[in-house]
Amino acid sequence: MAEKGMVIVVSAPSGTGKGAIIEKLIDNDPNIRHSVSATTRKPRKGEKEGVSYFFKTRGEFEAMIKDGALVEWDEYCGNYYGTPRDYIEKTMQEGLDVVLDITVAGAVDIKEGCPGAVMIFVLPPSLAELEKRIKSRGTEDEEAIRKRLEYSYSELRHVNKYDYIVVNDDLDTAVLEVETIISAERMKYTRNPSILDNLYKGELK
Ligand code: ADP
Ligand code: 5GP
Repeated sequence: MAEKGMVIVVSAPSGTGKGAIIEKLIDNDPNIRHSVSATTRKPRKGEKEGVSYFFKTRGEFEAMIKDGALVEWDEYCGNYYGTPRDYIEKTMQEGLDVVLDITVAGAVDIKEGCPGAVMIFVLPPSLAELEKRIKSRGTEDEEAIRKRLEYSYSELRHVNKYDYIVVNDDLDTAVLEVETIISAERMKYTRNPSILDNLYKGELK
């Protein structure tokens, strides 16, 4: 029903499960697309260029910043991450929603440039469970896990910058909660200002 695409921002400490939530969200709704970020982080096993990320050297990434090719970017645990401008502009013009999986600093920049962005923060059910999940994912070594967890504690304090909170205890419940938020946002009058004309064109005296 919404008249143009929405930006949906999802942030969470690393290992909370935002990737898992977004994957299901996209599988369940063809109107939601995932913005593929650029990063200088090395690919993890199984990650594909242009699907998981656009993998860049620091020089290439810095050139993208200079050229204005990114709508936001941030440095996280020693690597650059940023959202390419082209894809989100094109997708929103098509009336599709775009989900961004980004850091708190990136999310704040998006909200400034795009006040209609829907801001969702995903919380782990406990700090012990967060540690368990990041370790069980097996994608980082001990030192990287330590850095990420340390960063997580400071990220959690920024939960107040978001519109919605979802606790990812049971994955399917968390997905349903995110879907509920998106449904409600799509029904906002401000996203459908031509609704009367669209429904009753010519009939309404
Ligand atoms: P993030 O994208 O937030 O860094 P991931 O989506 O990679 O996190 O999830 C981290 C790990 O936790 C993965 O192994 C994932 O399968 C697992 N996971 C995600 N959600 C849950 C959940 N609700 N319960 C148990 N494990 C989960
Ligand atoms: P990971 O290395 O686990 O894939 O991602 C690390 C962090 O970078 C996560 O918090 C993730 O949300 C964030 N991230 C991924 N892409 C972007 C992006 O384009 N911009 C910003 N600001 N953060 C991103």
